[in-house]
Amino acid sequence: MLSKAQLQDLSGAPVPPALHLIDGEARAASDGTAMDVISPLDGAVLTTMARGTPNDAKAAISAARRAFDDGRWAGLAPAARKKVLLKWADLIEANAVELAVLGVRNNGTEISMALKAEPMSAAGTIRYFAEAIDKVYGEIAPTAPGTLGLIHKEPVGVVGAIVPWNFPLMIGAWKLGPALAAGCSVVLKPAETASLTLLRIAELALEAGLPPGVLNVVTGEGAVVGAAIAESMDVDVLVFTGSGGTGRRLLEASARSNFKRVYLELGGKSPNVVFSDAPDLDEAAKVSAHGTFRNSGQVCVAGSRLLVERSIHDAFVEKLKVHAEAMKVGDPLDPETSAGAINSERQLAQNLRFVAEARAAGRQIVTGGERILQETGGFFMAPTIVAGVQPGDAVAQHEVFGPVLAVIPFDTEEEAVRIANDTEFGLAAAVWTADLSRAHRMVRAIRAGVVHVNTYGGADVTVPLGGVKQSGNGHDKSLHAFDKFFDLKTAWIKL
Ligand code: ADP
Repeated sequence: MLSKAQLQDLSGAPVPPALHLIDGEARAASDGTAMDVISPLDGAVLTTMARGTPNDAKAAISAARRAFDDGRWAGLAPAARKKVLLKWADLIEANAVELAVLGVRNNGTEISMALKAEPMSAAGTIRYFAEAIDKVYGEIAPTAPGTLGLIHKEPVGVVGAIVPWNFPLMIGAWKLGPALAAGCSVVLKPAETASLTLLRIAELALEAGLPPGVLNVVTGEGAVVGAAIAESMDVDVLVFTGSGGTGRRLLEASARSNFKRVYLELGGKSPNVVFSDAPDLDEAAKVSAHGTFRNSGQVCVAGSRLLVERSIHDAFVEKLKVHAEAMKVGDPLDPETSAGAINSERQLAQNLRFVAEARAAGRQIVTGGERILQETGGFFMAPTIVAGVQPGDAVAQHEVFGPVLAVIPFDTEEEAVRIANDTEFGLAAAVWTADLSRAHRMVRAIRAGVVHVNTYGGADVTVPLGGVKQSGNGHDKSLHAFDKFFDLKTAWIKL
């Protein structure tokens, strides 16, 4: 646990203006413009960062292309890349506290979660892919004796990575780890409200020995920098985590340009299904509340649609309420805080609109529902439980991306499955039951990339994460993540 004094020292440190990292150099925007970085902790300007232009994106893509084509990274032995990446992971870990604090000041996540979920998780992910890369083999096809069919795995080339603000280092590492281990070069576009830590770890990558130009970071607006990366004829693969609307634009940009492959991890409205025979209803209530309210609900896999068997509904909602109200919401730099700030004023306003709509429709606001701690200038919202929700309500269909839990009662397993699947999304789910057969039936019946049983969240880098339906395509994490970054090339040889 971090001491308050240690945190206080770091949390007041001035943050220098952030610049792009292109071809191994810190660079201002080509037109010299910068944008304010607002801290969600107090609504004040934390620093400024380069407001990227299409020319900046082009410069970064050219640098990545040169770095890829001359083999300064892709041409190294996998074991040599592994050595650099392991050193990078060590440096991230050695700087974990500074990174976590900087990240919290930038995006608002509570430090108790950020330290583990951000730098430590990123270091672990990079280490995992570094360790794996010299264990990846090509194949020999089972052809007739007179021929030899070799299947080579080659790095795809220049990767554009566009990432969100909720867990910039964790999600960034899900893309950077396998892409860089595979030998690709990367142009990374962090989110407007969470760029600082990704820039910092890119500097650490240089320090670890990653050749300049292999990892470039361009900050600025998604609609400018992100769009320029998506439209580029020189980016081979695009990997993205964010909203469905942006995902759609990226696919369109690919179709308009060079058919670059586009891998999307989009939103969720994940059903968390509690049966009356759950092994421990107190534990289920606690984990369900935390699974929705940690990081103030700004988690793509959050179990924000809670389906509760009617016979235990009222008692379970009471338990949830106790846990929600026991959460300490506030200063994200206080190690005791269990839910930090909402990332931006815009996001806070959106969360409140969903609650207002539910209230107007006569749904019951069991607890929360309002902005709190306004006197701090920061963006905070009380953990909110909405009961009596109908499956078709906006609060049950849209990804609120805030601390808002929609509770829906059900009577039978069949009804639970029907409601669980009544969504455009398919990212995550959970089921709580002591009946082993029912647990397995539910795992099969719910359309989602991951179904938790008697727990929520916590899956590690060894298992894939990816959505079905409109939650995306492709997978982050696990050895399957390499598939996005390798091309298969056949050598057909007559013997
Ligand atoms: P969210 O609603 O979670 O902020 P977005 O999809 O808007 O989700 O943002 C995720 C990432 O996509 C951010 O890095 C953002 O800058 C980027 N982005 C936003 N709009 C575009 C766009 N039109 N083209 C490319 N990237 C974009």
